[in-house]
Amino acid sequence: MNQTAKIDRPVAEAPRLEVQNLVRRFDGQMVVDDVSFSIPAGQVTCLLGPSGCGKSTTLRIIAGVDMQDAGRIYVDGNLVCDTVFRVPPERRAIGLMFQDFALFPHLSVADNVAFGLKGSKEEKRTRVTELLDRVRLLKHIDNFPHSLSGGEQQRVALARALAPRPRILLMDEPFSGLDERLRDGIRDETLALLKEEGTAVLLVTHEPHEAMRMADQILLMRGGKIVQRGAPYNLYNAPVDRAAAAFFSDINVLKGRVKGALTATPFGDFLTPGHADGAEIDIVIRPQHLKIDFDRAGRGPNPTVQDGTPARGVVERARFMGRESLVEFRMDFDGSILRATVPNVFLPKPGTPMWLMIRRDRCFVFGAKA
Ligand code: ADP
Ligand code: MG
Repeated sequence: MNQTAKIDRPVAEAPRLEVQNLVRRFDGQMVVDDVSFSIPAGQVTCLLGPSGCGKSTTLRIIAGVDMQDAGRIYVDGNLVCDTVFRVPPERRAIGLMFQDFALFPHLSVADNVAFGLKGSKEEKRTRVTELLDRVRLLKHIDNFPHSLSGGEQQRVALARALAPRPRILLMDEPFSGLDERLRDGIRDETLALLKEEGTAVLLVTHEPHEAMRMADQILLMRGGKIVQRGAPYNLYNAPVDRAAAAFFSDINVLKGRVKGALTATPFGDFLTPGHADGAEIDIVIRPQHLKIDFDRAGRGPNPTVQDGTPARGVVERARFMGRESLVEFRMDFDGSILRATVPNVFLPKPGTPMWLMIRRDRCFVFGAKA
């Protein structure tokens, strides 16, 4: 069934891809620092992190175009490489798709897609037709790449990468060369095709939006290490630290110092167990979880409200962002600035006093880093 892989002992339960304790140094600099993860068949895993954190290096080692200093890689339970043994890239049954997906300009769309295929002319034609139909480009089958739009070229590249039915597809920022307006549509189409094909996918991106939209599992990478892993929902709603929270959206930080087991904030005392007396604390809240208490305006605080004590602030400025408005408040409590998002158009004048409430169940408490 598979043309390129040499699979000695298919292990039904083994993950499609397993990476164990991968290490890569450049000039003594640790670039990939003890990275381990696995990807089951049919799942999309996003390796997400800021530029320079080691994502592409990890991908290149898995593809076999770079070598690790330590660690092992398995495909379907079979060792593909460690520091002495190495299956060459073309025999790993791994498909590749990069940002500059570089179609062959002198080959037709059909020949581009057929490029990595083995088998009879007929078999190749069947597979090429099937995939081009699936990406809605059958009518361009005999055209050349230059006559296609960027989005169409991207779909040809996807068809080319999937044509030999790779066990694993590695994608490195595959959408970043595309027009912003097209990206979400192409992401969704790509995801649908990947799911149909049942390929295990490792997608590298620095865009949290893309990772949230595409991933079954996100690996959040920073400084060569995976700092958190899980479903998009888990990373967004239970970040491991302040930087992980800030990676997915704008955040507010309420700064405080622990006294007993409590930390005082504009919204009353927070229980902060597990942090030493006197420790500095960051309480993190996303702007959409700060609510303006319109009913209470002018009536003063009401301590029985379920989301805790409201706090008064004065509008510093308000901006319309499209789907929502972003309002900045200077808090009476300590002069700090907090940002709240309000659906649609809400543009109160600077200087307007308002009451804010906080969703305590949406707050994340972290020890402050120096
Ligand atoms: P990312 O894909 O997350 O942006 P990379 O894996 O490309 O990051 O690079 C991680 C770090 O390793 C960067 O600091 C980069 O400069 C360095 N690096 C990557 N490849 C090499 C190389 N061949 N030689 C030296 N340094 C490299
Ligand atoms: Mg990169």
